[in-house]
Formats: sequence, structure tokens, C-alpha cells
Amino acid sequence: MQTGWRIGSLFGIPLLIDYSWFVILALATSEYASSYGSWGPALSWSAGLAIALLLFGSVLLHELGHSLVAMSQGIKVNSITLFLFGGVASIESESKTPGQAFQVAIAGPLVSFGIFLILGLGSQVLPQTNLLGIVAERVAEINLVLGVFNLIPGLPLDGGQVLKAAIWKITGSRFAGVQWAAKTGQVLGWLAVAFGLTSCLLAGEYGGLWIALIGWFAIRNATDYSRFTSLQEALLKTKACDAMSREFRVVNADSTLREFADRYLLEVNPFPFYVAAANGRDLGLVSIDDIRFTERSQWQIQTLHNIVKPLEKTSTVSEKASLAEVINTMESGQLPRIIVLSPIGSVVGTIDRGDVVKALSKHLKPTISEADIKRSKEENSYPQGLQLSAIAKTAQD
Ligand SMILES: [Zn+2]
Repeated sequence: MQTGWRIGSLFGIPLLIDYSWFVILALATSEYASSYGSWGPALSWSAGLAIALLLFGSVLLHELGHSLVAMSQGIKVNSITLFLFGGVASIESESKTPGQAFQVAIAGPLVSFGIFLILGLGSQVLPQTNLLGIVAERVAEINLVLGVFNLIPGLPLDGGQVLKAAIWKITGSRFAGVQWAAKTGQVLGWLAVAFGLTSCLLAGEYGGLWIALIGWFAIRNATDYSRFTSLQEALLKTKACDAMSREFRVVNADSTLREFADRYLLEVNPFPFYVAAANGRDLGLVSIDDIRFTERSQWQIQTLHNIVKPLEKTSTVSEKASLAEVINTMESGQLPRIIVLSPIGSVVGTIDRGDVVKALSKHLKPTISEADIKRSKEENSYPQGLQLSAIAKTAQD
């Protein structure tokens, strides 16, 4: 839903329109116009279009409600998109507390109820036959429906977000909140599909197809929420020491470059890292390239002490660091792999992208095949479609 046609921005949030939106705009216009058929074609279609546009204006304000509350909590809102099933605000990260998550969730329906009250009262003041009054009353009803429908307690609806916040508050676990709200969303989605298809097939109600389609959309979204959150949880619970491999060799820092080269330079499978140690302490890393770039005449004279890159100047993580931290550190430094340190500061392992995927594979549904894990290791990259670096950025307890 992130793609679309940018029509402007509000409070610094880009407003996008997905192409599927034009389909629903046309359907809504014709649906509303048909209820004013007695007014003649020009007026009924104008009213239909006006109400359809006001419907989406209402959706926009609803999404703006969520967005402004999220922004007041210091959370970035990437965009608001109108599409086939209404609107969606792309909010970058989760609120810090269940209370704040509740506020973001409830803000949308509150905006809808607010519009309902204002327009409802407004339409009462205007004479019964006033065109503006009729439109206002209709849009008021629409907002009431928007508010109530969104409070259905299953993800991806706002009611699902409220349920998530409540379970989060009770259990203290955001992950439990999301998983339960996602499950409810899936069940409600399946009920909508079953109800919609039955009413369409048995009673010939074509509106049922629309309900089934919304149900299917809800199932897909709830499943995505659940998968995304499981991955976030796995990224936080898996520690660097669970993922690291021991692809390094400890060498004596007192050796000359010549001695080092004779022993290791021609190895068939060189290690990505050589750790130079002296007096039982790991000093830093020696890279084959640093030796190659040192003049040959110096090889007999210089020791590894001369070319070692101190551990303090290398990007490292502690063995207790979460996999999310590992990924974030590797991505922000564009590193091929990272060194893992024990609490006393000695090198205990290394992690590359293949190691990350391997450690996560048991938490992933659908699981990653051995072949994909192997390819990740060889190419030092994450499998396509598994947006690990993006998810790691959002991972928080
Ligand atoms: Zn909402």
C-alpha cells in the first residue's frame, strides 16, 4: 500500500492515492447517486460524487487522527494512503506503552464520531428539504458507520489495536497483545468470508462478495501482523551468542609478518578474521590485505603488533546483544560481518548475514530451506522478501 499517486501533504505527511481507489470512488458514486434517482441524472450524480468524496475526506480525517496522535508521541508517519478498502496510515514504529498505543488506536474512531456529531447536529438545524442538509446527514451516518465498524476487535481494525493494547497492558507483553488481536482478526475475517460467500451464493446478494473481499483482506493483514511480530520477537530474543559462528583464528601478535604469511597466507580456506593476541589478551584484528599492502622488505622486521587494528576501533557486539542490535549495527556500518565479544572483551565469534538467517530459520513461518540458508551464507545477504533490516529497526520490547 506504500505505492500510489502523491496528491499533496498534510502536517508534513505525504497523502497518496492508490489506483484501486478510483474503482471504489466510482462504485461509491454510483451507489449513492442511485439513492437520489428521483432528483434527475445531473443532480443525483453530482450528489453521489460529492458524498463519495466526502466519505473519503472522512476516511482521511480518521487516518489523520491516528497519525497526529502518533506524531505527538514522537513517532514518524510515513504516509496516508487511500485505497480500495479505505485508508491506511503508515506509522513507522509502535508506541512505547500500551496506554499510548491505545491512544493512537482510538483517535481514528473518535474523529469519526466527532464528525458524526457535528454534521448530525448541523443537518438538524437545516430545513428537511435543504440539499446541503441531506448531504450532511448522509455523511454523518457514514462517519458513524466508519467509527463503529473500525471498533470491531480484530486486527487490522482499530478495535484490534485497542484489544492489542489491552492484552499488552494486562500481560505486560506487546507480542502477546499482537498475536491475540491478530488471531481474532483472522477468525473474524474468515467469518466475514463465510457470511459474504453464503449470502452471495444462497441469497444472490452481490454485496456479499464485497464483505467476503474485506474479510479476505483482513485475514491477509492479520497474518502479516502476526508474522511481522513473531519475527520482531525472534530478533529480540535470539542473542548474538546463539547466532555466531567461530570463523576466526587466534594468532600470536608477536609473530613477524613473514611468519604469519608463511603459515596463513596460502591457506586454502582463509578465515575472514585473524585475531592477534598477546599475553592471553585479544588485541585486535589482522587482515590479509594489510599484510599484502606492507612492503615485503618489512615482513621480517614488523610484527603483527604493527598492523593490528585494535578491537576498540572495530564494530563489535557483546555476546548478549540481541539479533536486532546485530543487524542494526551491521547495516548502519555496511559491514560484511561483525565480531562478537565476551564480557571480558575477548573475541568469541563472528556473525554474518548467513548466520543471522540460520539462527532465525527455526522461528520463521514458512521456514527457510537449507538451500536458502546456504545461499545466504555464500552471498552474505538476506533472502529476498524477508525484510530483516527494516524489521530489526522497528524491533523493541
Ligand atoms: Zn482507524
